[in-house]
Amino acid sequence: MNKLSLRDIEVKDKKVLMRVDFNVPLDDNCNITDDTRIKAALPSVKYLIENKAKLILVSHIGRPKGKVNEKMRLTPVALRLGELLDMKVKKTDDCIGTEVEREVNELESGEVLLLENTRFHEEEERNDESFSRAMASLADIYVNDAFGTAHRAHASTVGIAMFIDKAVCGFLMEKEIRALNKLVENPRKPFTLIMGGAKLADKIPVMESLIERIDTLLLGGGVAYTFCKAKNWTIGDSLVDEASIDVAKEIITKMRKARAELHTPLDHVIVQKISEDAQTITTERGAVPAGWIGVDIGHQAIEEYETEIGLSKTVFWNGPVGIFEIDKFAKGTIAIAKALAKNEGAYTVVGGGDSIAAVNKAGVADKISHISTGGGASLEYLAGIELPGIVAIKDK
Ligand code: AMP
Repeated sequence: MNKLSLRDIEVKDKKVLMRVDFNVPLDDNCNITDDTRIKAALPSVKYLIENKAKLILVSHIGRPKGKVNEKMRLTPVALRLGELLDMKVKKTDDCIGTEVEREVNELESGEVLLLENTRFHEEEERNDESFSRAMASLADIYVNDAFGTAHRAHASTVGIAMFIDKAVCGFLMEKEIRALNKLVENPRKPFTLIMGGAKLADKIPVMESLIERIDTLLLGGGVAYTFCKAKNWTIGDSLVDEASIDVAKEIITKMRKARAELHTPLDHVIVQKISEDAQTITTERGAVPAGWIGVDIGHQAIEEYETEIGLSKTVFWNGPVGIFEIDKFAKGTIAIAKALAKNEGAYTVVGGGDSIAAVNKAGVADKISHISTGGGASLEYLAGIELPGIVAIKDK
């Protein structure tokens, strides 16, 4: 990596503003339901505390669309972070303004201040210059450790870096980039790519950019049906992205030319309505009747995918292979998570919130080589797209 990192600069007694990704899920009572993202930022946070920086943390949470939303405050995050660090984490009610400036100026070396949700200001997502300048004026050094939002050119991820002398990467950002680079620079073969989920348009660029590098592509979830349709198989009322059928056909051809294998599920679990109490049946590939919807991969597909994963030396997985939010349709997704964990000799990377949730649900997170905190960001990075949040960091 040729970008400046935290290790390259002196932080003692400096005001360091670090963009983190504390976009954690909150329930209706504003309780954090999964603190993975807070924990992922701890190495950089602890380093800055131990090295006596005056640490200012900034993040967004949810989609408040430029307005203050009481349900999207970072207050529970400050409390949780305080528990994890076993120290007081101060918190402001805004991320710019005189009150914030006062709190920042009162910070002692080794203390931590968390600013309020950046997306309470519509200027954040517009990457507004004066808003970026206002945030930049709070600190001497800018650190970007928010890999999960590095694919967005917002004020706190890109704009701010233009108005501050020192802009460097945090440890999580470095770790994510290193882990993903291992997939594109000489991956050990066979390399298997597993793609599930619903939004095929998001996944196509990754498939296309990795075609030459992978040996096997295992398709599941909603995205598999567009490929089934491209092969003229009957898919009933399963999810299909009509606009991507031609691209799917091209990928099938390119894969064949590259002598890589493309697998669609051998069988499907199908239902007539998507609900907990739906009656399920399993059908062979290409035989989903009208009125029926594919919601999970079947047992033959599970067996085949387990074998393929077991033979792989490198695996990247993004997207559940079924509507796993409903337990009844989660069998395939859990089986994939377990198969990855079982292949301990392989380099396995999982990206995307749903696949991470599945890995956690299967209780195998510690057996995966790298769990990427950024779903969209990891897809764009692997597709070869330069992430604006990384570009904004100064080169070494
Ligand atoms: P994505 O964000 O594109 O990875 O999509 C994740 C979503 O895909 C999850 O909410 C799943 O419920 C959904 N999904 C998985 N399998 C299917 C399927 N067979 N049909 C419709 N949606 C699916």
